[in-house]
Amino acid sequence: MQNLKVIVVGAGMGGLTTALAMRQAGYQVEIYDRVRELRPAGAGISLWSNGVKVLNRLGLGDEIARIGGPMEHMAYYSKTGEKLTAFSLSPIVERVGQAPYPVSRTDLQSMLLTAVGPDQVQLNQRCVAVEQTADSATAIFESGHRATGDVVIGADGTHSIIRTEVLGQPVERRYVGYVNWNGLVPASDELAARNSWDIYVGDHQRASLMPVGGDRFYFFFDVPLPKGTENQPERYREELSSHFSGWAAPVQTLIQRLDPAQTNRVEIYDIEPLETLVKGRVALIGDAAHSTAPDLGQGGCQAMEDAWTLANLLLTTNLGVADALERYQDSRRERVAQVIRKARKRSDMTHGKVPAKTRQWYAELTQEDGTTIMNAISETILLGPMN
Ligand SMILES: Cc1cc2nc3c(=O)[nH]c(=O)nc-3n(C[C@H](O)[C@H](O)[C@H](O)COP(=O)(O)OP(=O)(O)OC[C@H]3O[C@@H](n4cnc5c(N)ncnc54)[C@H](O)[C@@H]3O)c2cc1C
Repeated sequence: MQNLKVIVVGAGMGGLTTALAMRQAGYQVEIYDRVRELRPAGAGISLWSNGVKVLNRLGLGDEIARIGGPMEHMAYYSKTGEKLTAFSLSPIVERVGQAPYPVSRTDLQSMLLTAVGPDQVQLNQRCVAVEQTADSATAIFESGHRATGDVVIGADGTHSIIRTEVLGQPVERRYVGYVNWNGLVPASDELAARNSWDIYVGDHQRASLMPVGGDRFYFFFDVPLPKGTENQPERYREELSSHFSGWAAPVQTLIQRLDPAQTNRVEIYDIEPLETLVKGRVALIGDAAHSTAPDLGQGGCQAMEDAWTLANLLLTTNLGVADALERYQDSRRERVAQVIRKARKRSDMTHGKVPAKTRQWYAELTQEDGTTIMNAISETILLGPMN
């Protein structure tokens, strides 16, 4: 179909990628966000090769390679610093045809915004409802503004109100069972090699460092905790020092070097896979459609796959918008459901849901030459639409 007008609600990585893909399909795009100023939530993100391929397709390949970190190796260590396994990630790149790029979220957002056109996002517009007729769909904003187009895309994140409109009821998010602290620190040999993703594991916890552009590491810590523990930024260092007491020197150095004021602490939630991702001329993408635990590093990559798939189906089919959206739902539903389930399973294993299984995983890591880990990562990438 040609000459469509697309209304995108939400200018996170999903909404911006969608706006770009739709623009490149030749469509007129309006994009709205509720915030007064766009700032990414979180510090860094690993964009696996499937997400990078979408960016390549949208003409951002050189730029993502420039801002991405050189993650060429991966290593697991015990909490006291014994190397459990270390290997080159180049077999993944050879198998799937594209390197992954860990990247700072600010850099990623700025790249996408520049490509979309920073003044294209209409800020301070909170969507409160959607309406549709046989010929059009309208996003309605708190301000009274109404944006009408051929299609409305709900890219409004994990608390999506457009999801409630599409499903006819709200969805309850499920606490995955752990808290994640994340941020950026200057790269340093005392922390990790500048081309390696290093992960320390023990006590059902993780501490991880991966290189992003600008000679920095994106770090995170995971600790299983009950839901609703207090978030006190002034206590982050103390909290982490207590949870990771006795862990290896790089973990201690990281805790001392992180800037608590620039560190995020989030409880991790997902949602059950949805049967419905569209209603007539309204489609959900990104976290609105599939909030997943970050344990595969795939939530944002799936948002990018959604964006590309939807734009491609609107462009290549000719039976009407609602038909293209049904096809989008058919092609994405099982893919994103699988990612949610796999991520949840992986989170359970990593974070000690069944302690014996986590112990067994620690033992298996000592026998690992990288093959099992890389097969799992490659399989997730290759099951996507960009191959
Ligand atoms: C700790 C952590 C680590 C992660 N690591 C990775 C990783 O390594 N790799 C990866 O691929 N993914 C990762 N993810 C997942 C990734 O962050 C998300 O999947 C991704 O940010 C989703 O993008 P989105 O655009 O769908 O939603 P969001 O980024 O949440 O954007 C939604 C936008 O909609 C706007 N909005 C909301 N409601 C309204 C409204 N009513 N009206 C108008 N605007 C509205 C918001 O202001 C926001 O700008 C991680 C997530 C977490 C929590």
